Amino acid sequence: MSKLVVGNWKMNKTNAEAEAFCNDFVKFLPKNANNYCVCAPFTCLALVSNLLGKNAKTGAQNVYYAQKGAFTGEISPEMILSCGARYVIVGHSERRNTFGESDEVIAKKVKFATENGLNVILCVGEREDERTRIVSVLKRQLKALNGVDLDKVIVAYEPVWAIGTGLVATKDDIFKAHRLIINYCLNNFGQNVQVLYGGSVSLASAPEILSIKEVAGILVGGASLDAKTFAGLVEIANK
Ligand code: PEP
Repeated sequence: MSKLVVGNWKMNKTNAEAEAFCNDFVKFLPKNANNYCVCAPFTCLALVSNLLGKNAKTGAQNVYYAQKGAFTGEISPEMILSCGARYVIVGHSERRNTFGESDEVIAKKVKFATENGLNVILCVGEREDERTRIVSVLKRQLKALNGVDLDKVIVAYEPVWAIGTGLVATKDDIFKAHRLIINYCLNNFGQNVQVLYGGSVSLASAPEILSIKEVAGILVGGASLDAKTFAGLVEIANK
């Protein structure tokens, strides 16, 4: 069964670089594959959405919880949709830890984005110093799903210590965290949720990670920046 590959470009690629990526990526992409989503910077989101076409999924990396107003520097769901994108990453560990976004702010973003036409990829995951209390950390972060339409949400389990470090969680770690997230949603909302894994995924580690039944796909940072590598991951997940 085909699984989803989400690329998070973070603060990378000018418009010229994004255009070159898209032109290469469509050449490397397996025929008819659409099991991917490119989350590009706001500045090239419309360009990437146009170049990859209507069948492609594209997304933003952040959103604000209002449609317009005096919120200098912020971007609304309507603005993201107007770029041709239908997805947004919310609660990435870099937003939580570098920009100080609280669970409360993240919860507002998830609610507002899903109520205003976007599909949310909610990132959760423990920091290195939180590894011994992973269960309570994940449950606290998952409270952002209270009162939200879960059909519009994909959760990404991203252990913070594995992001951009080359360290990948073990198969057992991934299984346990994904099971916890799936069971939390079943027990609290009576609904199943798709859970992606993220954290230093590469062409080498992807097959084993994607072989785990509880893994609905992968969220990829560094390995999404190269068109051939990203297309290779889409191919592995498309089996
Ligand atoms: C990420 O940014 O969400 C991520 C998983 O990055 P990387 O793949 O580079 O670890």
